[in-house]
Amino acid sequence: MKILVVGSGGREHALAWKLAQSERIQKVFVAPGNGGTALDDRLENVAINDPQALAEFAQKENVALTVVGPEVPLAAGIVNIFRSHNLKIFGPSKEAAQLESSKDFAKAFMQRHAIPTAAYQTFADLQGAHDYIDQKGAPIVIKADGLAAGKGVVVAMTAEDAHAAVDMMLSDNKLGDAGARVVIEEFLAGEEASFIVMVDGKNVLPLATSQDHKRLLDNDEGPNTGGMGAYSPAPIVTPALHARVMREIILPTVQGMAKDGIVFTGFLYAGLMIDDKGNPRTLEFNCRMGDPETQPIMARLKTDLTVVMEHAINGTLDAIELEWDRRTALGVVLAAAGYPDAPRKGDTITGIPAATPDSVTFHAGTTLDGTQLKTSGGRVLCVVGLGDNVKMAQKKAYDVADQIHFDGVQFRRDIGWRALKRP
Ligand code: AMP
Repeated sequence: MKILVVGSGGREHALAWKLAQSERIQKVFVAPGNGGTALDDRLENVAINDPQALAEFAQKENVALTVVGPEVPLAAGIVNIFRSHNLKIFGPSKEAAQLESSKDFAKAFMQRHAIPTAAYQTFADLQGAHDYIDQKGAPIVIKADGLAAGKGVVVAMTAEDAHAAVDMMLSDNKLGDAGARVVIEEFLAGEEASFIVMVDGKNVLPLATSQDHKRLLDNDEGPNTGGMGAYSPAPIVTPALHARVMREIILPTVQGMAKDGIVFTGFLYAGLMIDDKGNPRTLEFNCRMGDPETQPIMARLKTDLTVVMEHAINGTLDAIELEWDRRTALGVVLAAAGYPDAPRKGDTITGIPAATPDSVTFHAGTTLDGTQLKTSGGRVLCVVGLGDNVKMAQKKAYDVADQIHFDGVQFRRDIGWRALKRP
């Protein structure tokens, strides 16, 4: 069979890599792909971005099914377009993708269905937003309503920062339409975890748990990024907490969407904040897998992903159980000079070792320039190490990362620190 993966990041490289391991695969197309997917013989890059043109490509090539990585094409309705061409695709419709594409939609949805989350209010008018901040005080969190590529959330530790964030979004229009409305919400303290499931409309199949590292620098310092590393499983999600998240957050979300007349299909990612008493609350929904969480999760998945995808598209996820590598997988992101503000492009990348049973390097912002690999984006590579515990997976990942070179490379040295700190 032929499969199409939409996207160009490390997440999509990992999905395509995993799909291509299936004996049933003839070819995995990646649109538009990156330098890593270009180098892999079983993968083929397709230079098409427009969803309509991609659907025509999928028809022409007899693509059996399509998997969408990023949120932007989902919010633009790629799933609706493919379905209207009678093509099989895994992802949420444009309507269902509002869980991610509008924070106000997601907050109102959670409130309506009693799903635990931070208290909030939404504003389009500047004065109302400033008054609300004065009334609530800091710390407080300001979020652009729309998609802002990870730049739409300001966790303000002072009222001054909160007022400035509101001005930036509502008055200076720095985020364009995405910031034309803002959600202002209660600050939640605790430890974050990523809880990702597959949904076929009614059945829910949880993936392995994981934890991301959002800040640029060691000790969770520096600016927020798309994610600088992740590991799986996340020990903070104990079996008891897992059951609670399914019962209190995931199932009510899937059922609530159906009740509201919007059937949810696709990956559903709940970003959780777990307080010091172990209570989970929802920070956000994503309607796709996380990047970099996908990379360690795919490194651990043993089940044939083409089979899982078929069940997901046919509405039979209840008929399958996932098998996981018992080891920990830990991914370290290697970012370009200047990331996240102004990543430099065009640096030559050398030293990426071949994958082994306990390591694999996924590409993101890379491009093949003749035979030379060059940086072409903020997050360049994600090196995944596997080991019997977090410490060993971490050592493996850093052993590989230290062999790779490009000018200005930046990466954290402490991915996995929360798991290592646990008693
Ligand atoms: P989001 O895109 O909504 O997940 O926000 C991005 C990041 O901002 C999260 O991963 C958290 O680190 C942080 N964040 C979001 N909402 C809150 C909140 N209510 N309290 C504390 N931190 C938050």
